[in-house]
Amino acid sequence: MEQELLQLFRNQGHDDEELIKGIAHLASRHGAQTYRRALEILAGKDFPPEQAQAHWEGILAHRRHLFPSLVSGRLRTALIDYLQTEVGELRDPRILEATQLDEVRQASITDGLTSLYRQCYFKGRLEQLFSREKSPSKDRFAVAMFDLDHFKQYNDQCGHLAGDAALRAVAETLRHNIRDYDVAARYGGEEFALLLFRVDPQQAFTVCERIRSSIEKNDFSKDRQDNDVRLTISGGLAFFPEDGNSAGELLETADRRLYQAKEFRNRLVPENQDRRQALRRAVRSIVELCPEGDGQSIPGMTADLSNSGLSLDCAVSFEPGATVQIRFRKPFWSQEQETLATVRRISRDKGSGIIHLGLEFEESKSHFSGLLGNEQTPWSLKGASLSPNG
Ligand code: GH3
Ligand code: MG
Ligand code: MG
Repeated sequence: MEQELLQLFRNQGHDDEELIKGIAHLASRHGAQTYRRALEILAGKDFPPEQAQAHWEGILAHRRHLFPSLVSGRLRTALIDYLQTEVGELRDPRILEATQLDEVRQASITDGLTSLYRQCYFKGRLEQLFSREKSPSKDRFAVAMFDLDHFKQYNDQCGHLAGDAALRAVAETLRHNIRDYDVAARYGGEEFALLLFRVDPQQAFTVCERIRSSIEKNDFSKDRQDNDVRLTISGGLAFFPEDGNSAGELLETADRRLYQAKEFRNRLVPENQDRRQALRRAVRSIVELCPEGDGQSIPGMTADLSNSGLSLDCAVSFEPGATVQIRFRKPFWSQEQETLATVRRISRDKGSGIIHLGLEFEESKSHFSGLLGNEQTPWSLKGASLSPNG
């Protein structure tokens, strides 16, 4: 009904008699919902279907009453007068051409700088995919969250206007690499999001990798006198149905993976499936965190672990660059281990207040090199398997 009604308004919206006939025709097939939606389009008011039907009949009767010798037209005149004066449902109406209203609507969902969709529209589209009104989608899709690396530094070096131009260029790269029906949004300042329909994880990864690599290769200084100026972007991906069954779960997963990617920057998480498996393992277990020069230890819950670092959740925040000793203790780990790590990334979950930390081990990767590629125990440290017990 929705599409037919919208089409009726597009084609016959200017012709009151055709509109009235068309609405009656659609209502004979789809019931009072038709009146509800028609009044929403015409007056921006959402009435329950039966009430919408009663109002619609009232409007047509009011039109005959106001203009007894009328042959055609005056539907909107009667509609406003009826809703405002007869039933008091409109208090302070304004009149707008439909095209102007469309422009206002479009402006409210798109970002002025990049012309990408805004976060609220993006979330709305994602939520629609799980809404009950529509049958749940059987199609696969992917969500990707991106964040430019060291963008503050770029602004400081090149100026805010150049920063704005870079954001527009990044938006163009996103648009260029997706299909017409995919959704690209500016999620926040230098954060972007994609909704990629009908893709499996490998296809989604390929699209995102193309974006990552073309941003890496782009010379952002090309319109200015600066020397070669480079920017990179990090991204986190989440896949339906593998990673969740709600908009919230998928966004949380993509965001958590973005935060993991930020430990390294200029990276996607998950990486190409094979490489990821070799590098990083999801491990939920308890570690102790000891800030350098502080005897107190703080508990943390690991999210994943590789030979070069780990990410974890805890209740205390740290300074970026702080050195922390990580202790893996029995009975949570099969062997007791300690290692120094540097805090690379910090984010706080607004709802729970939990702090997510990305830490890089201080010992060089070569220290663990003998273990890299050992797919059975990729999180092993110093030659010992740190597989969690239980
Ligand atoms: P990281 O690699 O950890 O993401 O570092 P970052 O510097 O990108 O992140 P941070 O959150 O510290 O800084 C984000 C910067 O993005 C700061 C802000 O000035 C810049 N920014 C956000 N919105 C805009 C915008 O509309 N225009 C410009 N020019 N800069 C913006
Ligand atoms: Mg950011
Ligand atoms: Mg950033």
